Amino acid sequence: MKLSELKTGEQGVIIKVTGHGGFRKRIIEMGFIKGKTVEVLLNAPLQDPVKYRVMGYEVSLRHQEADRIEVVSMAEAARLKMAADDTLVPEVITENYLRSQALKERRHLSVALVGNPNCGKTSLFNYASGAHAHVGNYSGVTVDATMAEAHFYGYDFSLTDLPGTYSLTCYSPEELYVRQHLTEQMPDVVINVIDASNLERNLYLTTQLVDMNVRMVCALNMFDEFERRGDYVNLDTLSTLFGMPMVPTSFKTGMGVKELFKAVIKVYENTQGASRHIHINYGHEIEDGIREIQKFLKADEHIRQRYSTRYLAIKLLENDPNITQYVGQHMADEHRPEERKQLMAVRNHAAARVLEETASDSETAIMDAKYGFINGALTEAGYQTGTKENIYRTTHLIDRVLSNKYVGFPIFFFILYVMFQTTFSLGQYPMDWIEAGVEWLGEWIGSTMTDGPLRSMLIDGVIGGVGSVIVFLPQILILYFFISLMEDSGYMARAAFIMDRLMHKMGLHGKSFIPLVMGFGCNVPAVMATRTIESRRSRLITMLVLPFMSCSARLPIYMMITGMFFVAEYQSLVMLSLYAVGILMAAVVSNILSRFVLKGEDTPFVMELPPYRWPTAKAIGRHTWEKGKEYLKKMGGVILVASVLVWALGYFGTMGVAPSLAESFIGRMGQTIEPLFALQGFNWQLDVSLIAGVGAKEIVASTMGVLGGFENVTPLAAYAYLLFVLLYFPCIATIVAIKHETDSWRWAAIAAVYTTCVAWFVSAIVYQFGSLLAYAY
Ligand code: GDP
Ligand code: MG
Repeated sequence: MKLSELKTGEQGVIIKVTGHGGFRKRIIEMGFIKGKTVEVLLNAPLQDPVKYRVMGYEVSLRHQEADRIEVVSMAEAARLKMAADDTLVPEVITENYLRSQALKERRHLSVALVGNPNCGKTSLFNYASGAHAHVGNYSGVTVDATMAEAHFYGYDFSLTDLPGTYSLTCYSPEELYVRQHLTEQMPDVVINVIDASNLERNLYLTTQLVDMNVRMVCALNMFDEFERRGDYVNLDTLSTLFGMPMVPTSFKTGMGVKELFKAVIKVYENTQGASRHIHINYGHEIEDGIREIQKFLKADEHIRQRYSTRYLAIKLLENDPNITQYVGQHMADEHRPEERKQLMAVRNHAAARVLEETASDSETAIMDAKYGFINGALTEAGYQTGTKENIYRTTHLIDRVLSNKYVGFPIFFFILYVMFQTTFSLGQYPMDWIEAGVEWLGEWIGSTMTDGPLRSMLIDGVIGGVGSVIVFLPQILILYFFISLMEDSGYMARAAFIMDRLMHKMGLHGKSFIPLVMGFGCNVPAVMATRTIESRRSRLITMLVLPFMSCSARLPIYMMITGMFFVAEYQSLVMLSLYAVGILMAAVVSNILSRFVLKGEDTPFVMELPPYRWPTAKAIGRHTWEKGKEYLKKMGGVILVASVLVWALGYFGTMGVAPSLAESFIGRMGQTIEPLFALQGFNWQLDVSLIAGVGAKEIVASTMGVLGGFENVTPLAAYAYLLFVLLYFPCIATIVAIKHETDSWRWAAIAAVYTTCVAWFVSAIVYQFGSLLAYAY
């Protein structure tokens, strides 16, 4: 019986908790575990919540929640005892007896068979139960559900043979029927029967079941056909990636049926490692939409109990009429029309954004992402098929080249080379124009204004500072253009795929690769992009080494310093070496972190390989411009303020206007901290610029622009300085982002401190060794 049916003062022993994964987890975490005794403290009719005592604690549950918990009560046990007429039964019903009855009851579970038409569901049903439902090889034979009992390993299974469906949308009565059965009857375990000779297409339904968060086992049926054709797939890998057992079967001969039910029992009993709930990653546009919608749904107890909110959010985004109607009706019933309006507005907004950025409606975009997931999982599991046509023919053809073991890498590095080359060479022209404009503005102010603090502030502070940084806007836009292009076309996912093995050597995962490449643009969105990495450990390591990826804010400093201290032919070499050192440091540090600090196993997950597509001009334009806007905002905000501040500290001293920079506030400050960087060969102007750069790295360049005075700096010291700038404290925004994503200041602080230490040591070592070498020759 249901726990909700127990009256005040009655006792029961828990048999099982039904419902979707999220619900079950929550209830079990509250202490409602199989075999435990529950006592009803107060169950007033028509009154929520109900009070229980379980495991010595008092817990309140809503009626609805208690409806999902099955128990054996004293009365029931007594009835069973009479019926059993068992001599072993004690006179008085003890708790122990109750518990043994619950255990017996627990061995009875409901199992639903879900799969495409003609995949072999009815054959399994008949084989397992000995029933003789009609087996035919045309679709539509099973119109509604048939039930039968089966017995394996001491467990009783109530099998339900459901109509075959290709999907769980609600376009056909069959689809709706299956979906309703799963949410209303809530079978304990679902057996997803798959035609192994048509894996790609059959797994589509599997991904939908994954969204519903039901416990399931996959039967890779027709395995005889699969083998006969010489197809191959690594089943262990596939099982791990999908987070559920995949059992090869042939219901024609009965092969694998026992193993299948063994797997069902393991999943039901929650045996260690039998299954885990995975999320299919739908890409950032859709994931953002899901998150927004989920916020609404999670606030609703009724909805939360019945459905996985993620599943509902996906369905709402897909514009599923049935679910939309359900949610709308529910909110109307509860008299919350405002909330309903808001929810629909959020849904429409998210859908519109998906449409704009992917050029397809959300339903198609979600479908594409599902096939991307399947494609990624199958590729990783080494799926090879002899004859079948693939769904994404063009994609597979392109992938044969781009994801190839041998040519994939050179192509990738060539693309990176083109990206940086274009950024620098093409960016040079608009940069020259902006530079000329800035220069002209400075001269114009210089000739029209009379000498004084205001003129000095404008020319040396604002123009010297902001002007020296704003000239790099074109480069930054071009860099972002390329990154957006790689992301939106689907190439970035391939790059991640081929880098996977290399990333594993660094203690990272292939998925870490995308944030790392994004880090070349800006570390802040890159830190946020680590969300797609499901393993917390990999994610943490990725965030910690991300600051070593040389972001575009560092570009102005590099260009300024290489321009000042190196002859033209060495400039690009110096710059390239910085990027290389950054990558090398990231590799070394992540290796150390994964080996000695954040040890542990990683949960494997799928790298989605979505079909290639032409990115829309709108999406690329938007993604590029959003970053450009951020850059400009930074110019007008923090960099402007910092420039004026640095100017003021350099203009004034303790005695009013300082007679020289060295005697100004900033000069004194610089001279005070100079010993800190003695080993690096920096002068005090460089030191001060480093401190100023804590706010944002561009400020290092703008401060240098304001201060000047680098005549005596040697190229070696300049190079050591570049290394320091590359490696030290990324910027406040990145540290805050790390805090936000890890939810702890500890990791943010660690990131801030350790990068600065690394920078200090590396630059000191390079300068000291360099000096030694220079002296020796
Ligand atoms: P349902 O539509 O999913 O219920 O599929 P059925 O159980 O009706 O099976 C469809 C057809 O596939 C029948 O002709 C079965 O004999 C055949 N079939 C089922 N399982 C297997 C299998 O493992 N191997 C082969 N070769 N054929 C199978
Ligand atoms: Mg059938």
